[in-house]
Amino acid sequence: MTDLTTLGIAAIRDGVRDGQFKAREVAEAFNAKVAGADALNAFLVKTPEHALAAADAADAARAAGETLKPLAGVPIGMKDLFATKGVATTAASKILEGFVPPYESTVSQNLWNAGAGMLGKLNLDQFAMGSSNETSAFGNVVSPWRRPNDTAPLAPGGSSGGSSTAVSAGLAPGATGTDTGGSIRQPAAFTGISGIKPTYGRCSRWGTIAFASSLDQAGPMARDVRDCAIMLEAMAGFDAKDATSLKLDVPNWEAALSADLKGKKVGVPKEYRVDGMPAEIEALWQQGIDWMRDAGAEIVEVSLPHTKYALPAYYIIAPAEASSNLARYDGVRYGLRDLPEGAGLQDMYAATRAAGFGDEVKRRILIGTYVLSAGFYDAYYTQAQKVRTLIARDFERAFDECDVLLTPTAPSAAFALGEKQADPLAMYLNDVFTVPASLAGLPAMSVPGGLDKDGLPLGLQIIGKALDEQGVLNASLAIEQRAGFTARPQAWW
Ligand code: GLN
Repeated sequence: MTDLTTLGIAAIRDGVRDGQFKAREVAEAFNAKVAGADALNAFLVKTPEHALAAADAADAARAAGETLKPLAGVPIGMKDLFATKGVATTAASKILEGFVPPYESTVSQNLWNAGAGMLGKLNLDQFAMGSSNETSAFGNVVSPWRRPNDTAPLAPGGSSGGSSTAVSAGLAPGATGTDTGGSIRQPAAFTGISGIKPTYGRCSRWGTIAFASSLDQAGPMARDVRDCAIMLEAMAGFDAKDATSLKLDVPNWEAALSADLKGKKVGVPKEYRVDGMPAEIEALWQQGIDWMRDAGAEIVEVSLPHTKYALPAYYIIAPAEASSNLARYDGVRYGLRDLPEGAGLQDMYAATRAAGFGDEVKRRILIGTYVLSAGFYDAYYTQAQKVRTLIARDFERAFDECDVLLTPTAPSAAFALGEKQADPLAMYLNDVFTVPASLAGLPAMSVPGGLDKDGLPLGLQIIGKALDEQGVLNASLAIEQRAGFTARPQAWW
């Protein structure tokens, strides 16, 4: 019998529906994989009983002859940024240690309503701030990938590194991610899986722990494009509880998947040829261009002139919003409370925040508070907002000439844990290709394109027009079919 954990979302859904195997067998197989993978540190909480209960419901529905829900029998991993009712939710921060939400996030509720089960809560960079998972208060996630003859632990990308690791190591067929500046796409690229950040507003932010509210977007991470389309359909949708939620029906993205790009124009932004880009990334990008042409698309060079200001603008806007959002962690309302002997209220706030937040989170709060302070607001925050508008306008102009854009996802393959930790700027530079689409609120996807000389995965990014997830998925599918990426990490854990 096939190992059920080798199957993706579509194969599990179809197999359960057609009676090839029981949903319970699937849940048991993944639960066992999760239980045996502690060395990866991908899960902060394991919830095997949740996965089994959803599986039993799927099996019972089938036995009763009911039409199965879209994700019936599919167990997934949930990034620990989504509040889950009755299940500890920490955003990988000590300040939320012991917090058990009395409510369920809209995205996770949508997934449960679609029949999915939860294998557990996935580790991440603390409050989703980071690109390597090293800012988690509960230890970094270790990528299942390794360089040949080298046991140095590699970064799984971040912030959705628990998600990328769980999917690429075969611990879950899919996982939720969130993306503020690249946190779905970069970890997907580092681990050889697919992930899409939809248009800002497609997925409700309600119950998702806030980092930078004007940028935060949830999305799926899975083994291939079809699985991402299926999962995104379940996650997305209007929600009256989120004022920025888009009042639009969710398209049937899976049904309209097509890798035929005849009549489509693919833009290649010349400003993404950044200095010092490794030759292998450049070669992969060229390979992607050839694949697009092979799929029938016409290639056009486009210009996004403000690209070089995207990263500095992001690292003002995101910390500014974070400093405001994280003001709520005061030792009164959630999780940790540090109340020194004889301390007053202010002392309690200070002690709780000093003990609860990690260094990177503190750095962002300090930067954010600084750029929002009276004397510097115009010089930094207002200026960054203007740059953001210019970047959005760049994309609008580019999309007058093409349907989607093709770029690398990240400027390198996975780096070693510890390699960039001492240098925050080097870490921030890793987001150079993902941040612009975030600032413009556009849908963007990473798909595996190939391996580097060390056998590590590299990703290609497709950026689309607002609301054109279909165009993004279809161009990504065209790459997927040509890349024939089947590499998987050798299990060492
Ligand atoms: N790496 C980026 C940051 O640290 C993006 C994180 C994210 O998208 N959540 O802010």
